[in-house]
Amino acid sequence: MKYPKLRELKEAIISLFSKPYTTRFPAGDFKPFPGYRGKPIVDEDNCVGCETCANVCPSNAITFVDDSKTGIRTIYRDYGSCIFCGKCEEHCITGGGVKLSDEEFDLACFDRSTLIETQERELLICANCGAIITTKDHMRFIHEKLGPKAYSSIMNLNILNERLQMADDTDVKIQDGLKRKDMFSTLCPNCNRKVQIENLI
Ligand code: SF4
Ligand code: SF4
Repeated sequence: MKYPKLRELKEAIISLFSKPYTTRFPAGDFKPFPGYRGKPIVDEDNCVGCETCANVCPSNAITFVDDSKTGIRTIYRDYGSCIFCGKCEEHCITGGGVKLSDEEFDLACFDRSTLIETQERELLICANCGAIITTKDHMRFIHEKLGPKAYSSIMNLNILNERLQMADDTDVKIQDGLKRKDMFSTLCPNCNRKVQIENLI
């Protein structure tokens, strides 16, 4: 028992004369070390609203609400529920939609609702059945990622048309059931299959 006590006494004397390891934060400034996992910061230019980060978020801090009437997806990021695990950054499909800050970390507040941030993205909706396909930005991202291979999909031809403005009146209403004439409309995979396969039988 004698030796451990002496060792502790030595540690206590060294600590008395050495610089404290702890910082004076919040009384003083604190500069986190590189790679510190602070607040997730969204990059609006690189986030396509794809929903992947919501699916991997272990604390359900990221949620989405799709409104097919307005055609808008609202993304809620509740930093009061965030555990700063970094999964959203790690799995972001664009590689830059969200990054954990190593500078912004002090989120203490009296009203947790002030910690909720929102984003909005325009939805891509099936012109036949009204199913939500994804966001327009997400589809554009897939289109750019695939390059020329994207044109094997009719959906991507629609996006190309939108970008190049080759035709103005592609928004033709689908009437009297799905026909082959409707194949260039924005269709979900189910309705696309009906046009492609069932109409051929
Ligand atoms: S995974 Fe990335 S691109 Fe998709 S919604 Fe999350 S931050 Fe945005
Ligand atoms: S850091 Fe983790 S808990 Fe926080 S929003 Fe991202 S995935 Fe969710």
